[in-house]
Amino acid sequence: MRYSGFRVLKEALTGHRGWGPAWRDPEPQSDYDYVIIGGGGHGLATAYYLAKEYKQSRVAVLEKGWIGGGNVGRNTTIVRSNYLLDGNEPFYEFSLKLWEGLEQDLNYNAMMSQRGIINLMHSDAQRDAYIRRGNSMILHGADAELLNQKQVLEKYPFLNVKNARFPVMGGLLQARAGTARHDAVAWGYARGADQRGVDIIQNCEVTGLRIENGKVLGVETSRGYIGAKKVGSCVAGSSSKVMAYAGMRLPIESHVLQAFVSEGLKPVLPGVITFGAGHFYCSQSDKGGLVFGGNIDGYNSYAQRGNLPVVEDVIEEAIAMFPMLGRARLLRSWGGIMDMSMDGSPIIDKTHIDGLYFNGGWCYGGFKATPASGFCYAHLLATDTPHETATAFRLDRFRTGNVIDEKGSGAQPNLH
Ligand SMILES: Cc1cc2nc3c(=O)[nH]c(=O)nc-3n(C[C@H](O)[C@H](O)[C@H](O)COP(=O)(O)OP(=O)(O)OC[C@H]3O[C@@H](n4cnc5c(N)ncnc54)[C@H](O)[C@@H]3O)c2cc1C
Repeated sequence: MRYSGFRVLKEALTGHRGWGPAWRDPEPQSDYDYVIIGGGGHGLATAYYLAKEYKQSRVAVLEKGWIGGGNVGRNTTIVRSNYLLDGNEPFYEFSLKLWEGLEQDLNYNAMMSQRGIINLMHSDAQRDAYIRRGNSMILHGADAELLNQKQVLEKYPFLNVKNARFPVMGGLLQARAGTARHDAVAWGYARGADQRGVDIIQNCEVTGLRIENGKVLGVETSRGYIGAKKVGSCVAGSSSKVMAYAGMRLPIESHVLQAFVSEGLKPVLPGVITFGAGHFYCSQSDKGGLVFGGNIDGYNSYAQRGNLPVVEDVIEEAIAMFPMLGRARLLRSWGGIMDMSMDGSPIIDKTHIDGLYFNGGWCYGGFKATPASGFCYAHLLATDTPHETATAFRLDRFRTGNVIDEKGSGAQPNLH
């Protein structure tokens, strides 16, 4: 069924009896050409592009819980491509271009809203760094604009610039950045993949990998053994657990990242805005809630809930930036498990085991990467060669030293 305005009108006039499920609920087959472990945004996008771009239909996505229950449905929905380094920027710009056509491609309303992002700057050194980053973005075909204090205040007049601990000097704007409705992205990819023959199997946890003579044969699951010619792990915060089934130890730590939403307010934030003197980012949802987040919790964890010290820290940053927020009530907070890589950049690569592939290390930033990650992973799975925008995301960079450390902060997950 194609979704359209006409369809909505027709269903409204006929009692909404014509809507069907957005995807099937199939029983797992005994074997597939491709098994993708993890039905998050990246796993579903991979299956979608495998089917659409590479005409593969014997594909299954195995999800231990439900579609959208992981980080894809827990993030703060920011999409952007404002990166500095050659290894990252072309990939994230490719992703933003895919976002720009995604709703038409999927025939699904993902509420993609290019409302712009401003990274605030608070010192001369930070302005130099942003000029450098903006120039790098422009050289890679992205958009970037340096704003002075007056230009920032025209958009955000309530920012604290007088007597502030961290005076706002201006900001780096990427006008094409913005937000997208996170769980709709998962549902849209699930529906698109299903329509092309992909089996999406929920409540199916992968509990082991069957490997013989250096080759993967299939996966052990809570619903029995499933054979596969190729297996792609795409489980974000559970990466270390799943790859341990293959005896691999990854350069990844799992940490909780919390997010917060305020009560609904009248429109006050026209775009996404980030605090440059700490780690704080905020946008306003279409329902009016201010959606914001900060740093990861300071220790390794597989819990999907966080702790109070980070809550205090994030709220302090919020108030430093917008003192008026002190009057708003916090409605909810939640957490997701982040796959923090040691250089802050992702991995999309084959492993040393024949037929076993790995996608992970997305840190705080994997939502914006969803389309390109799926595209590039599908390319790798189908052709056994890396996509041109993802050639730097190799697993062996941690051995060779060719790390992609955007912030130059070293192997410190909380600093990326
Ligand atoms: C609070 C928060 C805020 C964030 N904000 C942003 C943001 O603003 N912008 C941005 O770009 N990124 C953001 N991120 C990061 C982004 O959400 C993630 O990097 C991205 O969603 C990870 O990819 P995914 O969607 O595939 O992960 P997930 O949705 O977590 O998918 C992985 C799936 O694998 C499943 N799984 C795990 N183990 C198994 C198993 N053994 N067998 C079968 N299935 C398994 C899980 O159940 C899960 O559904 C944020 C994350 C959080 C938590």
